[in-house]
Amino acid sequence: MGRYWRPANLPEALRILGAERPRILAGGTRLVRGATPADWDADMLDISGIPALQGITATAAGWRIGAATSWTALLGAPIAALRQAAATVASPQVRHQATIGGNIAARFASADGAPALLALDATLELASSTAGRSLALAAFLAGAPLAPDELLVAINLPPVAHSGFAKHGSRHAVNVAEVTAAVHLDIAGGRIRAAGLALGGCLQAAQRLPGLEAALAGQPATPALGAAVDASYLAHLPLLDDFRAPAAYRQQVAITLLRRLLATLTAEAAA
Ligand SMILES: Cc1cc2nc3c(=O)[nH]c(=O)nc-3n(C[C@H](O)[C@H](O)[C@H](O)COP(=O)(O)OP(=O)(O)OC[C@H]3O[C@@H](n4cnc5c(N)ncnc54)[C@H](O)[C@@H]3O)c2cc1C
Repeated sequence: MGRYWRPANLPEALRILGAERPRILAGGTRLVRGATPADWDADMLDISGIPALQGITATAAGWRIGAATSWTALLGAPIAALRQAAATVASPQVRHQATIGGNIAARFASADGAPALLALDATLELASSTAGRSLALAAFLAGAPLAPDELLVAINLPPVAHSGFAKHGSRHAVNVAEVTAAVHLDIAGGRIRAAGLALGGCLQAAQRLPGLEAALAGQPATPALGAAVDASYLAHLPLLDDFRAPAAYRQQVAITLLRRLLATLTAEAAA
């Protein structure tokens, strides 16, 4: 077993990360995947004891979600897309341990947090012992690297209007996504002022749908809005085609999930 630190505050965590370069351990539920005995000789920085990394708070600019906030805590989030994503992640036991920061930092195709946060225009708040910066989640998912001494401290969101998340896989519990979809609608005067739509699970990394977002802008916010979704808006996406599901099937599921979310959110807004 390597060295193990569990600091009680962020400056100490950043100091250890900068000086010792241990692996970051949040909930550990992704880190254990495929781990070999050699992995357990690695030095570990356990970030689960740092209050500044926990919880969801309203800010002047929107919302701030501490990176070590668990999925269980997100079940009570004031943001529907995050609550709905949390309800689909793993099992209650894993949700108690697993964090939103680990979900994003691990960068994997079926990460349920990625499309939900991407549709909401999330930015990552990063810190090292010497500097801090903000990085758009979209840029991170497209491959922008973190420095080895950088910690994901929080995820920041602008104000959220009507949002929703849906997931499709082969079973109801401990379900690995074949497709996930997330929608954020800003509605004013009965019309779509702005839309954020993202797909995950069916791609190596979650992606937004800018063509469809542009087509929805200005449209009447009625449940009929879903009819605007068709395959042409997904044609450019490199959909996964593997043992879980063929690409053509994933495309049909993605269209269905997006249509349902648009119908639900517009009906909810009108109520
Ligand atoms: C049985 C089971 C079922 C699962 N089901 C789902 C599911 O349905 N949906 C889903 O999305 N995921 C699922 N997962 C994967 C995993 O549980 C989640 O993605 C979880 O949110 C990962 O968070 P964690 O805190 O456990 O990450 P960890 O395992 O602690 O870390 C993951 C990676 O991120 C890095 N990291 C963690 N925190 C930070 C940080 N703050 N800054 C920088 N780097 C960091 C770590 O170094 C590591 O490389 C499942 C896992 C298991 C074991």
